[in-house]
Amino acid sequence: QLHNDVVDLRGRIRVSVRVRPLLEKEKDESTDHLSYPDETTVGIEQQKGKVMPFSFNHVYGPTYSQLRIFEGVKDLILSVLHGYNVCIISYGQTGSGKTHTMRGGEGEAAGLIPRAVTFLFENRKRLEDLDWSFQFAASFLEVYNDSCFDLLSTPPRAKREVKYMNKAFVVEGLTEEPITDANNLTSLLRKSDGNRSTAATKCNDESSRSHAIFALSVKGTNKTTGAKINCTLKLVDLAGSERAKESGVVGDRFIEMTHINTALSNLQSCIRSILSKQSHVPFRNSKLTTLLQDSLEGGSKCMVMLSLSPQLTALNETKRTLEFGKNLS
Ligand code: ADP
Ligand code: MG
Repeated sequence: QLHNDVVDLRGRIRVSVRVRPLLEKEKDESTDHLSYPDETTVGIEQQKGKVMPFSFNHVYGPTYSQLRIFEGVKDLILSVLHGYNVCIISYGQTGSGKTHTMRGGEGEAAGLIPRAVTFLFENRKRLEDLDWSFQFAASFLEVYNDSCFDLLSTPPRAKREVKYMNKAFVVEGLTEEPITDANNLTSLLRKSDGNRSTAATKCNDESSRSHAIFALSVKGTNKTTGAKINCTLKLVDLAGSERAKESGVVGDRFIEMTHINTALSNLQSCIRSILSKQSHVPFRNSKLTTLLQDSLEGGSKCMVMLSLSPQLTALNETKRTLEFGKNLS
């Protein structure tokens, strides 16, 4: 039996906030402009004495560990085994902690991707006692300038096309690695990390200007009843949402900026159209939303994690991020 909270999420977008701590090199900076009056509110002080409160489903301040973040979304993730598409999207400016939340580091620093896969893999056992059998497979792709690249392909970063087949968008030839134990998850993530960072050195941190979509496909069959599930968990690390200074952005940077702005504002439009039950949702206006269609519409469960830097110099972007989130509900 699932927690009510999870069941209630159907057809709604849950929005949470995570603020990263100051880094070692920032340790002398002040974060007094941010306040956390309760578990669902973050206050920002733009002018002395004037605090603007923003409320969401949950606000995780800078002291929350990777484990606590995972525990906050674990019920949502578990519902994949109960037949729901689930999607968690991290949104925010470059340097705010999106990749840390999604991918993270080793051990205690592990992010949602390794924790979620391991958790689902372990939890399948409970359902196997009820005659279910499951198959897990992972894919990892990057969307850069509205094109898809396969982070698990050999050779790496093969370009992939998106096709519309059987009423759904599929990425043609996308590598799907079966997940059979914890070790092959680790080697798969090492491979994709390598393939993301190769590009980063080549092109001055391209990774912050691309969207990374990790997808875990879960196929289940009940041997007694014949019931089937075919669901996907998507964990999405979006491109940095910061608005580049318009002046002086030329060439490749200008093209990237245009693609990112289009994708992120289109994501917001799609979510808003779904929430207001409009018949037309502009999924096809960008590759990102095309790829997320099955995770956003219908009975899917989606959560947006707004990622914030505590630095005073980030205040304008912090406010823009909070406003983006506010417009999703
Ligand atoms: P983004 O992906 O949004 O550009 P990163 O995830 O790369 O940001 O985070 C920027 C830096 O801050 C990295 O060095 C990362 O390790 C660190 N960081 C982010 N979030 C946390 C956190 N919750 N605790 C400790 N360090 C963090
Ligand atoms: Mg990142």
